[in-house]
Amino acid sequence: MLEVRIDQEECIGCETCVELCPDVFTFDSVQNKAYVSTPEGGDQECIEEAIASCPVSCITVEET
Ligand code: SF4
Repeated sequence: MLEVRIDQEECIGCETCVELCPDVFTFDSVQNKAYVSTPEGGDQECIEEAIASCPVSCITVEET
C-alpha cells in the first residue's frame, strides 16, 4: 500500500498540488495548507508531478 503524506509544518499553502492533482490533495482554507484527501493515492503521474512541483518538497509517498 502507498501512503501519500504532506508535512503540514512545511506546507506554504501554494495550492500547486491541489491544482495538479485535485483527486488526492485538497486545500484547507482555514489552515491555509493542503492536506491529503486520498492517502492511498490515485493517478501516480499527477502525484509525481505534484511532488516534483511542490516548492518546499513536503510531499512524500511511502510504501506501508
Ligand atoms: Fe503545500 Fe507543497 Fe501543496 Fe504547495 S505544493 S500546497 S507547499 S504541499
